[in-house]
Amino acid sequence: MEYEVVIGLETHVQLRTRSKMWCGCANEFGAPPNANVCPVCLGLPGVLPVANEEALRLTVLTGFLLHCAVPELAKFDRKNYFYPDMPKNYQITQYDRPSTANGWVEFETGGGRARVRIARAHLEEDVGKNFHYDRYSGVDFNRAGVPLLEIVTEPDLRSAEMVYDYLNALKDILRQGGISDCDMEKGMVRCDVNVSIRPAGASELGRKVEIKNMNSFSGVRKALEYEYARQVEVLCGGGQLAQETRRWDDAAEITESMRTKEQAHDYRYFPEPDLMPFAPTDAWLGEVQARVIELPLARKERLMRQYGLPAADAETLAGDAALGAFFEGIAPRAKQPRILANWVINNLRARLAETSTSIQAVKFPPAAMLELLELVDTGRISGRIAQEVFAEMFATGDAPEHIVARKGLVQVSDAAALEPLCDAAIAAHPRTVADYRAGKTAALNFLKGQVMKLSHGKANPNLVGEMLQRKLQ
Ligand code: ADP
Ligand code: MG
Ligand code: ZN
Repeated sequence: MEYEVVIGLETHVQLRTRSKMWCGCANEFGAPPNANVCPVCLGLPGVLPVANEEALRLTVLTGFLLHCAVPELAKFDRKNYFYPDMPKNYQITQYDRPSTANGWVEFETGGGRARVRIARAHLEEDVGKNFHYDRYSGVDFNRAGVPLLEIVTEPDLRSAEMVYDYLNALKDILRQGGISDCDMEKGMVRCDVNVSIRPAGASELGRKVEIKNMNSFSGVRKALEYEYARQVEVLCGGGQLAQETRRWDDAAEITESMRTKEQAHDYRYFPEPDLMPFAPTDAWLGEVQARVIELPLARKERLMRQYGLPAADAETLAGDAALGAFFEGIAPRAKQPRILANWVINNLRARLAETSTSIQAVKFPPAAMLELLELVDTGRISGRIAQEVFAEMFATGDAPEHIVARKGLVQVSDAAALEPLCDAAIAAHPRTVADYRAGKTAALNFLKGQVMKLSHGKANPNLVGEMLQRKLQ
């Protein structure tokens, strides 16, 4: 029997706010344990939560970016359970009236395009973190009360690869939209992965297993591959699958059972009495709407259309908002936007990475890039020299024209000046010359390279090629 895998994801994302969800404590990763705490996020008796408005805005903004509906009214609920990292003994979340629902994410996968439906994206709070030592455990409440968005898909995903691509697309959208930094290393994105199998072609869903709290996308992919094989094996062996919660063991690369449905929590949800329902006004929604960005996939396509960029370059620029903005700030004035994109990606981005510089700190004005390309275009400098000029521009912020003049880098297109260099190259490499005359046309490139070297890169390569050819005939 052929089995198909069905997957739905619940992705938790920490929102990018200055303060926590219900109090003024800093939403900051890496502070000393319990440095960012107060009576509210420690769950002391008698305190009242006050909703963080930016978190409400970011939630609704996420709704817009994921094509969700934003209901007129949302409310908060208490999800009750006991765990040491959650001092109130309940988590404030949104149960039956979430802030956003019924959207979709479109992304590229398997050489094509896929759409996954979003059931809801609701706002809740993160919990603290337990640390276990030899003889005792400790709890750090810095994370308790950090605003957390839970983005729930419909069971629309059909392979581990597709899940991986979805997660990366989602991350790009959230990052570029300013919703979250999505720093995986800092645990800002965590997934619960729901997975079932069913006979290929069946329409009914199989019994699902939930793998809790995955914190890397590659881990999710591995866990899914493992779990699919495990479930198929159980069914093929005549066994039954239990609806259960499992845990991924990253070292052993297996999932193991944590609890079955019978042991599932009953959270006894009830409306949070300390918070008013949330009913955004049109004006408020309008302000949030104004923050909607062009989605990375849409931007990629537009860059391809508008500037004739190859898919890979368009994807690179669309995937890096700052780099894309740099490019688009000058691309309309570029004679050949494709070549400009090439320079932005292969030179500017590379130097930024090498020197750990942010694009905001670039010393030259963006238009200097166009001046540089113009110098190449008009034959004032060679492409190779342009690399050198760029490096200098990057280091000093100096204008390309000045650098060329200051360093004497103007391309030599004067036949009289190049003549002796060509002669020297020919005289020094009789074997190559013989090869060329014997029909190995590629030998000319070697001689050309020699002349370029003799000219310290300044010779006009096309002219040198022509001259060498003429001389060797
Ligand atoms: P629960 O009440 O157990 O949390 P939900 O219906 O809220 O279940 O769904 C939680 C997640 O599980 C969603 O992302 C949903 O798409 C996914 N899901 C539900 N049923 C299945 C299934 N049979 N196989 C795979 N994923 C599923
Ligand atoms: Mg669940
Ligand atoms: Zn606090």
